[in-house]
Amino acid sequence: IVVIKDVYKEYTMGEVKVKAADGMNFEIQRGEFVVVLGPSGSGKSTVLNIIGGMDRPTSGEVWVDGKDIAKYSDKDLTIFRRDNVGFVFQFYNLIPNLTAYENVDLVTQVSTNPLNVDDIMSEVSLSERKGNFPSQLSGGEQQRVAIARAVVKNPLMLLCDEPTGALDYKTGKLVLKLLHDINRKLKKTTIIITHNAAVAAMADRVIKVRSGMVESVSVNLSPEPPERIEW
Ligand code: ATP
Ligand code: MG
Repeated sequence: IVVIKDVYKEYTMGEVKVKAADGMNFEIQRGEFVVVLGPSGSGKSTVLNIIGGMDRPTSGEVWVDGKDIAKYSDKDLTIFRRDNVGFVFQFYNLIPNLTAYENVDLVTQVSTNPLNVDDIMSEVSLSERKGNFPSQLSGGEQQRVAIARAVVKNPLMLLCDEPTGALDYKTGKLVLKLLHDINRKLKKTTIIITHNAAVAAMADRVIKVRSGMVESVSVNLSPEPPERIEW
């Protein structure tokens, strides 16, 4: 579903040039639960943002669902993002003056093929917290609202940039298990950047990145169910 071919991304900061992606190549199959690992500054967020149409490569091909989105106009890229990509960030990015339900419902109004808000709230076990504002929710609950918001638009892919980065270990585990459950149940291709190497055991594919390059890709034909993992 995703094919990254010779992707380079260079940032220019005054005189200094930074190669955030330095010739990346990999592919991801439809429905996979993919984990991206690598040290800070290795280009993980850069490549995730490129796959999600949030950023463009300096050069290279970015095939998603049979189309090279690197060639899209800005307008087509915006439509691509809206229809195909659900993003989950480290710091939730919820709208503070809307309730949990309203944060999720808002997205359905601009989606072409949204899922039912109540079904998704129940999927993330927040049916009882629908009327709470973000400030009245724990970090884990806020992240579950953010996941519901990403899922309810019924995207082709779920892209998660360190979704457990702001959570304690135990809450982080529950969020990763939830993402895995959603991946299996709704068959959403899911890509997760994490520093928690234990998650690799439940991934279908593990992509290791270093210095803007892919260090290794391993395909896991019999991934562990989350409940069997020693974290
Ligand atoms: P982390 O684990 O810390 O989030 P990362 O692997 O996600 O790191 P990236 O955010 O992809 O790393 O950044 C890769 C490199 O590109 C870094 O050296 C970073 O400083 C640089 N970089 C990223 N975004 C920009 C930008 N908008 N302008 C300039 N340089 C950038
Ligand atoms: Mg990052």
